[in-house]
Formats: sequence, C-alpha cells, structure tokens
Amino acid sequence: MNTKNNRPQTENLSAMQRAQYEAMGISREVFAFGEQILEELGGRFAQIDAVAEYNQLKVLGAMQAAKVSEACLYGTTGYGYHDLGRETLEQVYARIFHTEDALVRPQITCGTHALALALMSNLRPGDELLSPVGRPYDTLEEVIGIRPSRGSLREYGISYRQVDLLPDGGFDYEGIAGALNEKTRLVTIQRSKGYQTRPTLSVTRIKELIGFIKARRPEVICMVDNCYGEFVETSEPSDAGADLVVGSLIKNPGGGLAPVGGYLAGRKECIENAAFRLTSPGLGKEVGASLSVLPAFYQGLFLAPTVTAAALKGAVFAANLYERLGFSVLPDGRESRHDIIQAVTFGDPEKVLAFCEGIQAAAPVDSHVTPLPWDMPGYDSQVIMAAGTFVSGSSIELSADGPIKPPYTVYFQGGLTWPHARFGILMTLQKLVEKGLVNVVFS
Ligand SMILES: *Cc1c(COP(=O)(O)O)cnc(C)c1O
Repeated sequence: MNTKNNRPQTENLSAMQRAQYEAMGISREVFAFGEQILEELGGRFAQIDAVAEYNQLKVLGAMQAAKVSEACLYGTTGYGYHDLGRETLEQVYARIFHTEDALVRPQITCGTHALALALMSNLRPGDELLSPVGRPYDTLEEVIGIRPSRGSLREYGISYRQVDLLPDGGFDYEGIAGALNEKTRLVTIQRSKGYQTRPTLSVTRIKELIGFIKARRPEVICMVDNCYGEFVETSEPSDAGADLVVGSLIKNPGGGLAPVGGYLAGRKECIENAAFRLTSPGLGKEVGASLSVLPAFYQGLFLAPTVTAAALKGAVFAANLYERLGFSVLPDGRESRHDIIQAVTFGDPEKVLAFCEGIQAAAPVDSHVTPLPWDMPGYDSQVIMAAGTFVSGSSIELSADGPIKPPYTVYFQGGLTWPHARFGILMTLQKLVEKGLVNVVFS
C-alpha cells in the first residue's frame, strides 16, 4: 500500500481520537501527558500480549482436550446430578492448572468463601495453619480468627502461626523452619499483595518457598491464594508445587463474564475435602446445579487471558503515569508483574477520593454517581470503592479501592479492555487536576 496515501488517514484518526477524549472530559494537557507516558511502553505491552497469547492457547487446548461440547452449556436445576457442563468445566480448570481435580461452582460466593472453604475442609481440630508470608488478606483475619469471629477456625480448635516477611520483602527462612512443627497441617501463601505494600510473589519465588517447606515437611498442604494472579504469567503456582490454588471468578479467571463463583484446583484429596464441606459429607461433587451460569463460566474463561492482559496494561500505564508525577507506586513502572493490582500511595485522603471519583466517572454503569467511603463487612477501617461494573463488585472490571487510613494508598485494578483502562486512568488524573491536587508537568 502507498504510505503517502496512508499517512493523512492516520493523522486524521489521531486527531479524531484526541477530540473524542476531549468530548469525554479529558483535557488536552491530561491526554498529552498520557501520550508521553505511553510512548515508552511499547516493549512492555508486547511482552504482555505474548503471555496472553501463550495462555490463550493453554485455555483453548484445555477446552479441546476436555471435549467441551454444546451440551456442556445447558446447565441443570434441582440437585444437579450428572451435570455434564459442570463436570467438564472442572476438568478444564484441572487441565489449565495441571492439577488432579478442581471445584468450580456458582455456590462458592466469592474469593473469601473459596479460601475459607479450602481451609475449613482441609484442617481438623488440633491442626495448625501457617502463613509464612505475613498477614493474610483482611477478610481472612476473621476466617482464621486473628480477629475474634463467630465460626472462625480458631473456634474449632485450629491454631494459627505467622512468619512475617523480612524488611526487604524476602522470606524469613529461619523463622519459617522454626514455625513448622508436628501440628502444622496447611501452609497458606498469598500470591498477591492485596491491601498491603509488600511485593507480590512471582511463581518462581512461590516455588522456592514451597520447595523449602516440602523439604522439611513433605506432607504439609501448600495452598496458594491465587486471587488476581491467574494468567499474569505463563505458569501458575500449581506448576510450582502448590497442592491447592484458590481464587474468585469475579476476578481474572471469570474474564468479566462470570456473574459469581469461585474455584479450587489441586490434589484430588484436597478437592474432595472441599466438595464434602461445600455440599455435604457423602454428596461432595455429585450435587450442585449450575442453573444458567455455564455459558458465562466457559466464555469468560476463554476470554480471561486477554482480559487479564488488558488489565495488566492498565496497571503498567498507571504505574508509569503516577510515578512520573512523583507518587510512590507499587510495583514501580519497570518491575515485572505478578498480579493485576497497582498500588499508588497518595499520603492524602483527598487524592484517594479524587482518584476513585475518576474511575467511577469513567465507568459504563453508574458513571453519574460519586463513590463514598463506607464500613465494609470484613474490613477494619472504612473503605472507598469505585466500580461501575456490569457484575456487582467485580474487580476484573475497571475498579479502585482503598482503605481510608494512612498511608492513603489506592489499589487500582481491572479493565475489560485496554482502551477502557486507558480512559479510566486518564480520568483519575483529570479529577486530580481539576481539584487542584496535582499539576501536570512535562519533563
Ligand atoms: C480479592 C481477594 C480475596 C478475597 O476475595 P473476595 O472475592 O473479595 O472475597 C482474597 N485474597 C486476595 C489476595 C484477594 O485479592
């Protein structure tokens, strides 16, 4: 094709794009600042696309090998005996995670429930749970009984030990060796940083940690809280020795389409324990009607690698943009990524609110409302959440949340498409600029 004839069209398109952003409330200065940041991200984005391509084939291959058929999309009611779609989907998950079995159900209400299920079904009174990576995710404090709570593991006589990460983020191997004892039955490893300012663990680091534990206590169950980590790398913690990986379907593996649900993938015995706990002793995996969710579970899983890639691009863009503006970001603009969460520390509640207002204003649903901090069940401080999502509370969709407490860090994640993630991040900056909280300076 003639490049001379091609060029005016490209120029025209970028002028149209600029005008479109302006019509949608992004000033010329904010748009130009974003463009400047993006100029340097081509290599990073190409790498993210390559991982997505690898994982797309992994998912497709698993679906083909499990012989997913049209009949798998129908679903069942009542007891849900012989639910072909449910059973096949669980095989697909097991193939993707390279595990013996999986439990993938709409009856698992959220990520916390999936994790609670894994813990409560694989621990018995007198057993001890160990976290060798410091404090677990906020909502698990009540599951474990770190904060006294009705029905916690602690009430059932299951004790808990924790070994914090070293100040440099490394594993305290000496402390871990000392904490492992004859009561230790299960070790819980949280891959993502969650609401903390520590690095997310790569699959490689998880492998080292599990190797260390298994060398001392091979019979201990190593469980990984895989929330937000699925499809970010080419391998999963179950490829690194984990006996059990657990996550939420309204995060990465649901691909934005799953309307509810959680999954566990792992060793047969661990999955069976969880199934007997989820339904009933004696019934296990045999019951649990899938109703009408299966098409969304399958199609969402199929889209999950590229949806995760879109979210990752958004996270990398946000990191570089806010780093350039002088804020502390985790991970930083250049670091490799092991989950889709981007933390930006503002040190100022007003900036957290403005950021969240921007995310909300960029949403396809409820863009006209203003998010406010509230007392969310399971959290020990007020939390602000911005999410104008198709699936309520879905955090694979463009969303941001932050506990209203020092150091006033906002956790940003998701974006079903890269253009939407880009627009949302520009809108956060737009709100900060409009409120006079940030100046856009060109370097
Ligand atoms: C989201 C998350 C959870 C809990 O999931 P919910 O679906 O919000 O209950 C647990 N651990 C980590 C690391 C998470 O990111």
